[in-house]
Amino acid sequence: LNDVNNKFEGFWRLSKLAVPVHKDPGKDFIGVSHALLDEITKVLQFPVASMLPAEAFTVVRKSFDARKVLKEPKFVYTVDMDVSKLLDLEPRTWDFISRLEAKVGSVEHMLHKRASGDLINIIHDCKKVSDDTLLRKEISSGSEGLYKYPRTRKPKVAVVGSGPSGLFASLVLAELGADVTLIERGQAVEKRGRDIGALVVRRMLEMESNFCFGEGGAGTWSDGKLVTRIGRNSNSVLAVMNTLVHFGAPANILVDGKSHLGTDRLIPLLRNFRQHLQRLGVTIKFGTRVDDLLIENARIVGVKVSDSKDNSQSDIQKLGFDAVILAVGHSARDIYEMLVSHNINLVPKDFAVGLRMEHPQELINSIQYSELATEVQKGRGKVPVADYKVAKYVSGEDGDALSGVVTTNRSCYSFCMCPGGQIVLTSTNPSELCINGMSFSRRSSRWANAALVVTVSAKDFDALDLHGPLAGVKFQREFEQRAAIMGGGSFVVPAQKVTDFLENKLSASPLPPSSYRLGVKAASLHELFPTHLTDALKHSISMFDEELPGFISDTGLLHGVETRTSCPLQIPRNNETCESTSLKGLYPVGEGAGYAGGIVSAAADGMYAGFAVAKDFGLFPADI
Ligand code: FAD
Repeated sequence: LNDVNNKFEGFWRLSKLAVPVHKDPGKDFIGVSHALLDEITKVLQFPVASMLPAEAFTVVRKSFDARKVLKEPKFVYTVDMDVSKLLDLEPRTWDFISRLEAKVGSVEHMLHKRASGDLINIIHDCKKVSDDTLLRKEISSGSEGLYKYPRTRKPKVAVVGSGPSGLFASLVLAELGADVTLIERGQAVEKRGRDIGALVVRRMLEMESNFCFGEGGAGTWSDGKLVTRIGRNSNSVLAVMNTLVHFGAPANILVDGKSHLGTDRLIPLLRNFRQHLQRLGVTIKFGTRVDDLLIENARIVGVKVSDSKDNSQSDIQKLGFDAVILAVGHSARDIYEMLVSHNINLVPKDFAVGLRMEHPQELINSIQYSELATEVQKGRGKVPVADYKVAKYVSGEDGDALSGVVTTNRSCYSFCMCPGGQIVLTSTNPSELCINGMSFSRRSSRWANAALVVTVSAKDFDALDLHGPLAGVKFQREFEQRAAIMGGGSFVVPAQKVTDFLENKLSASPLPPSSYRLGVKAASLHELFPTHLTDALKHSISMFDEELPGFISDTGLLHGVETRTSCPLQIPRNNETCESTSLKGLYPVGEGAGYAGGIVSAAADGMYAGFAVAKDFGLFPADI
């Protein structure tokens, strides 16, 4: 029996457990329901469901599957099973145990449950290991190899930007004992909320405190989607997600297949994050903009800052630091220009531009769910508000100013889909107009919006005679300015019915209603981008309609312009140390450095850079 117990210790992962919608308690329930237990019973071929102890199972993932090929939509679960709890069962039948044994081949067998701590606990554990064991080893062996530098004084680190990457970098460094100053040009969420209110209600754009700039960065007044392409189960993503829960996110985000927070949950979470940093001794300077770097002997020694509300430059201050983490996001175009002036290497990269499509949410629900659409009930129902994700590869002929016609392959895809959300203004300058989407946690608005974008590269920048490291930024700006002119000013957004866009027709009044609060105006969006980009968009929209019949409808309204999908450049850095390849002491991180895209990946990148800098400054053993 002992042998058997040893064999069956630990956790087994059971995946693809499907529970039909009508039997499931619904999208917000992440416990083990009777229906799920029935499904587990079937998979384990266990004789009686009621004898399986629910406490032996933990739901680790729950997704909703409403694909048309299914007879009935279902929730699909991944569950961890604590095998030892099954062995306590009475009667403990050898027969059942041998069937479990036979299953070892088809389920993932883990001796230990995956580490699931938040960053603060992980760091405390690591510090314990390093302090208790490694330090003792270091002292007893007389070795100095474990810490790169002697730990005599706290290194002074500036983190520029309080978006996800800056916050996570600050957290790691402060937990590990650095003297951290977090510098943010925008305002704390309380004041930022009022600035955003003034923009949405009175058209007053506060250039330093808006949808892009301020505490929490660009992702604060957002949909708060926590999906990422860097691997949902990777340790870095798990650490980020658990840390968000530590600061107040609901535990559902750890389980939900498409987790999101929504603006109303992000704001208190950021406040908790800020208070924790302050308790650790981090100095936080809101309303303070970094304007320049202080460089001596080819090494960064500090930054020049000014009050971001005061344009007179009368209060420029010089602050000394040992290292500067640049976490400024991709809307800090002034920072890019400053970096170029210091000959810091910036490399243009591909990104995507396009338009934001908006439909009534009811239409998307009925396209995706058919009869089940009534179950959505404005985010309070059993099933999640319907979303979509479409992508196509199109090849087309581009008119190239220099060499005639060339054939180009481009990806066209939907991006940052916000079900039950609204379209918002993400301009940081009144002469430029760009938009994005946000939602609240319930996703209960009448609208569904998503960017429809097409990839652009150096060839597209060249065709407009835009060159150099900032060619992509100039490309963005060009179309943001065109959109502002098409809208006629005051942040009115140019819009066109999708049916008219496809037929090159100005839409007749009235336009279908839009969630965008500052007004829309009928405009020829088919003339906004160069023809080859417009053609790629048109072609892909027609293909999206095949996948989502009804996508091209009279109620579908395109809004211009979506340009800041990802960073148009990269600031090259050393893979391991995260230090800039052109300037010692500078650590470019997050989306603005071209190393992340989205809240979770930016946070993970900031966390990674935090550890790298801590190692470099001897706050953390170099071999951990
Ligand atoms: P940012 O979040 O951009 O933060 C950079 C910070 O640096 C800003 O707060 C800025 O004020 C500050 N800063 C810039 N220059 C200076 C300076 N000179 N001095 C001092 N401070 C400076 N992603 C998702 O994953 N899910 C979503 O649902 C989602 N929705 C979005 C909705 C909207 C409306 C927007 C705009 C973005 C959305 N994103 C979403 C993208 C996401 O917000 C970004 O990928 C993410 O915030 C990038 O994090 P970051 O830390 O690299 O940069």
